[in-house]
Amino acid sequence: FVLTGRADEPVEKLGVALVGLGNLSTNQIAPALQKTKYCRLAAIVSGTPEKRQRWSAKYHLPTRAIYTYETFDKIKENPDVDIVYVVLPNAMHGEYTIRAAQAGKHVLCEKPMEVSVEKCQEMIEACRKHGRQLAVGYRCQFVPHHLEMMRISRERQFGPLKLLEASFGFRIGDPNQWRLKHALAGGGALMDVGVYALQGCRYTAGAEPVEISAFETKTDLEKFKEVDETISWHMKFPDGVIATGGTSYSANGINRLYAGFENGWASLDPAYSYGGLKGRTSKGEMDLPQVDHFAAELDDFAQCILQNKPTRVPGETGLQDLKITTAIYDSIRSGGKTIQLA
Ligand code: NAD
Repeated sequence: FVLTGRADEPVEKLGVALVGLGNLSTNQIAPALQKTKYCRLAAIVSGTPEKRQRWSAKYHLPTRAIYTYETFDKIKENPDVDIVYVVLPNAMHGEYTIRAAQAGKHVLCEKPMEVSVEKCQEMIEACRKHGRQLAVGYRCQFVPHHLEMMRISRERQFGPLKLLEASFGFRIGDPNQWRLKHALAGGGALMDVGVYALQGCRYTAGAEPVEISAFETKTDLEKFKEVDETISWHMKFPDGVIATGGTSYSANGINRLYAGFENGWASLDPAYSYGGLKGRTSKGEMDLPQVDHFAAELDDFAQCILQNKPTRVPGETGLQDLKITTAIYDSIRSGGKTIQLA
């Protein structure tokens, strides 16, 4: 680590290695790392020579900080790296999380955690065995607007929660991308952006669903040959709370989290974008600051490691989402049957 900041206020910065230098790493995570208080970019892992060259020049990384997927395990010998941030296609998260844990590194893994319940369990076990922390990139859990939804519900500001509606979708472009290949993505809109809506329901309810049923529709059978296009699901939580969720790869602008209580309501729209979130309640507008979601998520994880305290987005949270998405696909396959979750 390095010490920075005022002489009387040293700050320990943890080194982060980024695995996979695609859109998210380039446009969100690398710029966010520059804004963090407790993290710094310490290494990169990429299969593309041109990217390795460009990134090392832009971020002044020494040769020893540059890895390929083949040399990745050597990261074990690099004391500059404390955290490995896995930003690869979904079905590669497990392998790189496990290899990072074996190299003695803490892991921040992008959502969805993996493409199966079994893979998630293996990842949790590997991090446990090597005594490393594992967090899933659920950035919304570090954003004031989402924390406010949780608070309103938990403190029963408008009485007990009754009904949740959450949905996130966008119109997907390039038909050849990995997001539309089942082997790499594990599913379509649900795995990619539906998980935000699912998460929104879980943390706003502050509880786990006990029953779920779902159905899907496809308007482009060629483009969505391997993965889901549009899905809607219904969940029952304990204490009489009902939730409706939706996700789509064919509609721009679906982006909301709504909670209806006995005596009022709270809602975010847009809810899951990287910025510009808008919140309202039956009492008026939410007046909350916009933050960099990735900087907030990274700084929180670094603090958890530095202070040896658990993250609020552990592997178990990602595993639970995989259990629920698996139940959604099971329900769809069985024609909308209700699946018991608890
Ligand atoms: P991307 O396609 O832009 O980047 C993926 C990277 O993986 C590329 O650099 C690519 O070269 C590399 N890669 C290595 N092996 C590959 C292979 N076999 N096939 C395809 N690519 C391969 O994707 P992205 O949008 O950066 O998404 C990466 C991960 O981040 C995904 O798990 C995604 O769900 C997640 N994500 C999270 C958020 C968020 O808001 N938290 C937003 C976008 C993406």
